[in-house]
Amino acid sequence: MINNNYVKKVYEDLCCKYSHEKEFLQAVQEVLETLEPVVEKDPQIEKLAILERMVEPERMISFRVPWVDDNGNVHVNTGYRCQFNSAIGPYKGGLRFHPSVNQSVIKFLGFEQTFKNSLTGLAMGGGKGGSDFDPKGKSDMEIMRFCQSFMTELYRHIGQFLDVPAGDIGVGKREVGYMFGQYKRIANEFTGVFTGKALEFGGSLGRTEATGYGLCYFTEKMIETLRGTTFDDKKVIVSGSGNVAIYAAQKAIQLGAKVVAMSDSSGYIYHKNGIDLAVIKEIKEVRRGRIKEYLETYPNAEYCDNCREIWTVPCDIALPCATQNELDENGAKALVANGCIAVAEGANMPSTPEAVEVFLGSDILYAPGKASNAGGVATSGLEMSQNSLRLSWTFEEVDARLKDIMENIFDTIYETSKKYADGKNLVAGANIAGFVKVCEAMKVQGIAY
Ligand code: NDP
Repeated sequence: MINNNYVKKVYEDLCCKYSHEKEFLQAVQEVLETLEPVVEKDPQIEKLAILERMVEPERMISFRVPWVDDNGNVHVNTGYRCQFNSAIGPYKGGLRFHPSVNQSVIKFLGFEQTFKNSLTGLAMGGGKGGSDFDPKGKSDMEIMRFCQSFMTELYRHIGQFLDVPAGDIGVGKREVGYMFGQYKRIANEFTGVFTGKALEFGGSLGRTEATGYGLCYFTEKMIETLRGTTFDDKKVIVSGSGNVAIYAAQKAIQLGAKVVAMSDSSGYIYHKNGIDLAVIKEIKEVRRGRIKEYLETYPNAEYCDNCREIWTVPCDIALPCATQNELDENGAKALVANGCIAVAEGANMPSTPEAVEVFLGSDILYAPGKASNAGGVATSGLEMSQNSLRLSWTFEEVDARLKDIMENIFDTIYETSKKYADGKNLVAGANIAGFVKVCEAMKVQGIAY
């Protein structure tokens, strides 16, 4: 609930203006609710209309993406790039290809990205983009033609010092390769305009693993500091089975945990003895198949065709790594009732507001995605540094920097939470710490920057 009059007015005006953008309003409300103590301490925020400026993207681009399928039929999708905030650096954030993409989803992701990038301590502003194109079931040539058409418009809006996209749901190395190739062709230059590139043309070792590994480094630091324990011998559930989920599961296992459940949008598998990640990788990364196929190798594992039920599996640590609003109030209550000690988000805004309320009202440790999944963009920042230096760091060097960044993010948000809240509310800690840096940069750059 928002109490401060100024903050309330900013939110109500936004609701009137963008009443149909529910994901965006959800993300803004969650942030604004926690900023009240800062706003009350600093009258400049209202005087300089910092919040009004922060909730409105600097630029919202949408465009037509026509493409031709293998049978010669013409299709048209919508492409987006939301350049949300460049106060602390060039816009930075991924591209998502999924049928659920619309302006609201892209704005929520761009808004969140601004705070997340600020938390990394690197000089990156916030942005996000994508399309309502569905890559599922498309041939490789169809994917290529779509990516080329998408970039034929997007190229004029991006650049290494302006806006540097990366992958997200439905956009991995293959798609980044096709888009980078088209950018290079049109712009006639080879620059670090994308991150998440393949190693052969400027990608960073460790970027593929970064979000999932970073999530576990953050979680380990959180449970060590606040509960005096580690991943060792813990039962973990990981929702999703894409890039973030697979590498979160891999690091959790390396740290001694047993991952007992994973999912895709069709359902989840439960394997009491611990999931064999090599089989998941083969299904998802090589065959691009469904998680249910795990049972072909392990018939004694169980499959449930409702992915939202995964939270009913008893566990010590839950890592939601699939998509927004995948964990609702019932899921949260089931986790608390089963004695789960920590929930750390790999996905962006996977917990509904009702679920967050359940977590904050219980003893569970709850880490919001903008802090705990920042390892992906942080390593993208490291990829940009390597591209600028024309150097490649070793996997160990990148991984060590990632671990350091994630541990620093935990320390920062925990200290901020102790200063402004009760030391327990890491959502407030993350939002305030992310906000303050951007806010100070906006103040000194003047109103019409
Ligand atoms: P991928 O496309 O690689 O994987 C997404 C996974 O989530 C797939 O397994 C997909 O299954 C599954 N999924 C989608 N919807 C649901 C659902 N309702 N229930 C269960 N599973 C579902 O995406 P990423 O792993 O890259 O991204 C996952 C999340 O992490 C997103 O929220 C993204 O914004 C966030 N993130 C990603 C970063 C990155 O570096 N990639 C960085 C920071 C955050 P299916 O195949 O059936 O669709």
